[in-house]
Amino acid sequence: MRLTVVGSGTSQPQPETPASGLLIETDSTAVLVDCGQGIIRELMSYRDPRELDAIVIGHMHADHYIDLVSLRYLLPWEGVASGHIPVLLPPGGKARVSSLAIGINERPTFFDDAFSLIEYDPSHRIHVGDLTLGFVEGQHYVPAWGCIVTGPDGARIAISGDTGPSDGFVAAARGSDLVVAEATLADSRFDDPRRGHLTAEEAIEMADKAGVPRVVLVHFRAELQERIDRACVARPGAIAGRPGLQVEVVADARRSAAPKPVDGGPVHRIGETLDASGGGQREGIAMNGADGTGAGATGQAAGVALN
Ligand SMILES: [Zn+2]
Ligand SMILES: [Zn+2]
Repeated sequence: MRLTVVGSGTSQPQPETPASGLLIETDSTAVLVDCGQGIIRELMSYRDPRELDAIVIGHMHADHYIDLVSLRYLLPWEGVASGHIPVLLPPGGKARVSSLAIGINERPTFFDDAFSLIEYDPSHRIHVGDLTLGFVEGQHYVPAWGCIVTGPDGARIAISGDTGPSDGFVAAARGSDLVVAEATLADSRFDDPRRGHLTAEEAIEMADKAGVPRVVLVHFRAELQERIDRACVARPGAIAGRPGLQVEVVADARRSAAPKPVDGGPVHRIGETLDASGGGQREGIAMNGADGTGAGATGQAAGVALN
C-alpha cells in the first residue's frame, strides 16, 4: 500500500501546496481521502482522477471537499457511461453537495450524474477493492472523521483528518504502521478552547501515545514549515508532508504473524443496488458492520452492496 500526499495545506490558498488530499493505492485500488482546493489539478500529475475507485470526504469544510467541483468538470456533462465515481460523504454530506450544485449554477443532479454519492455510517467499515476503510470521530468545530485504511497485507494507515487532541484517535491508531496527522497550529493557545486543531508537537504526541513508528504531518501553512521540520527532526520516523511525498506502508511483520484483526473479516453481500440513472456499475465496494453484521449507509450507488 502506498500513500501519496497530494496536498498538505489548509483552507488558506498558498503556492506551495493544494489543500487536503491523500492518495492511497495498491496494485488494484486507488482511493483519494479528501478533495480540497487544488487537489484534482495536482492529482493529475500522478494518475487520472477519473479512474479513482472512491473518494472519501472526512468532513464538509471546503478545504476537504470543494474540489469535487473541479473533478465534476473533468467528467462528461451528461454523466458517465463507464461508471460513477463513488464519493463517500459523512452524514449530512449529500444535502450539502446538492446545495453546492445550485450554488455553482448547475442542475440539482449535476453531481449525481457523475458520482455515486453515498453517506457512510462512521460506525461501519467500507471495503473498496482490496482496501478497508474505518472511521474515527475527530475533535473539530463541525462533525469530522478521520480514516483508518487497511491494505491487503494488513498494513494500516491512520489519518487524523481535522482534529484537536483526541484519545479516540489514539485508540483507533494503535497498531497502525503510519499516522498521517494534521499540524495546523503554531500555538495551541490560538485554538478555540474546545479545540479543533493540533500543533506539530501535539500531532507527534498522538502518534507516540498510539505507539506508531512513522508520522507524516499535513494540513499546515507554509510559514510553519521550519517549525514543522524542527518537530520532525526531533522525532525519528516523522516527516513533513508535501505534494508528491510517497510512503510505502507494509504490515509490521510481528502483527502479520498474529491472527488477522476483525476488520479483515468477511463481507456478506446480501443485496445489490441498481443505478437508477441507468449508468454503468462500479464493482468492489461493500459495507459491513463493525461486528460483521450490521447495515450501514444511507444512499445507493451503482454496483455497491450495502449489507
Ligand atoms: Zn475543518
Ligand atoms: Zn481543514
